[in-house]
Amino acid sequence: MRKAGRHFLQIPGPSAVPDRILSAIGQQTIDHRGPDFARVGLKALEGLKTIFKTEQHVFIYPASGTGAWEAALVNTLSPGDRVLMFETGHFSTLWKKLAEKLGLQAEFIQGDWRGGADPEQIEARLAEDKGHEIKAVCVVHNETSTGSVSPIAEVRKAIDRAGHPALFMVDTISGLASLEYKHDEWGVDVTVSGSQKGLMLPPGLSFNAASAKAVAANKKAGLQRSYWDWEEMIGPNKTGYFPYTPATNLLYGLNEAVDMLHEEGLDNVFARHARHGQAARAAVRTWGLEVLCNKQGQESGVLTAVKLPDGHSADAFRASTLQHYDISLGNGLSKVADKVFRIGHLGDFNDLMLVATLAGVEMGLKQANVPHEAGGVQAAMKLLT
Ligand SMILES: *Cc1c(COP(=O)(O)O)cnc(C)c1O
Repeated sequence: MRKAGRHFLQIPGPSAVPDRILSAIGQQTIDHRGPDFARVGLKALEGLKTIFKTEQHVFIYPASGTGAWEAALVNTLSPGDRVLMFETGHFSTLWKKLAEKLGLQAEFIQGDWRGGADPEQIEARLAEDKGHEIKAVCVVHNETSTGSVSPIAEVRKAIDRAGHPALFMVDTISGLASLEYKHDEWGVDVTVSGSQKGLMLPPGLSFNAASAKAVAANKKAGLQRSYWDWEEMIGPNKTGYFPYTPATNLLYGLNEAVDMLHEEGLDNVFARHARHGQAARAAVRTWGLEVLCNKQGQESGVLTAVKLPDGHSADAFRASTLQHYDISLGNGLSKVADKVFRIGHLGDFNDLMLVATLAGVEMGLKQANVPHEAGGVQAAMKLLT
């Protein structure tokens, strides 16, 4: 049956794609080796630097974020290398599994899935590693499964305090262009990101921003690689080209997205996300429900993960809200499957869209007979006005 009105895609990525970007993507595909392409390629490669806040190289892959995770590791490490990771949630767990499949020895600092990475624990572990066997520290910036943010600048300082030479790699697939991020200033060696979250694009592009130290490590890295090899990219990228067919139409979209972000102003984009996170949490607390992230100051402006009361299925609740109110909410992943749902409030998003989203959740709670107090939407509106 046809559903009237617009669907609310409120999962924490892919986020809804604005019309301007859809129109840009809709332009005719051109010869990726022809003269007109250079302008598109150079604009994309240079534009991304302003978003990562880097003057170093950003690699672009026609792949989802997972591909860029793999690229970060295979370009810089050798078989058997030790890698220190922090268990922030589902996505850090997937990155660790990927590292293990590549033949790396990945080690977790355990976390409770309710906050970001802890710099002190990272410092303590690195201080123990007197022989510098750990070759990389990998942290997820915005853990999309829990709605928690890791303090990246603090992790950098912790690595420095330990006097450890490990490479520092950060996944900000869902943080970039929504939360403040400074690749150069924070001393990150490889930043991994993707197109379909804060950048407001469809899925299909992912990125590695690499430091000079990471590019130097690439020369000696012994893991097998071909498609992901930075070495193959650097040459053609200089003139705006790629070693194989790039996702031309997504690059049109990327260039539009970067323009849009600067038209609004990155700081305004970050403030907007922070404010929406705050309003969403005010609603959740008024409903008498619990926000999964319980570390003050680490709650995400990208999404809010909400715990349902014991004995209530988060998936049944999500199915009911989709059916009745045509809104897609994010599911709980692995350890928190069926226990939490996630409200995405990222990308091209404004106050009225947030209020409508929260109204969908509040009506859904009532419809699905989940015990709660009314007034969450009001609490959010109070914060927004
Ligand atoms: C979405 C996401 C990924 C996975 O990206 P894909 O595009 O699905 O491969 C990895 N890490 C984080 C933090 C994410 O939000």
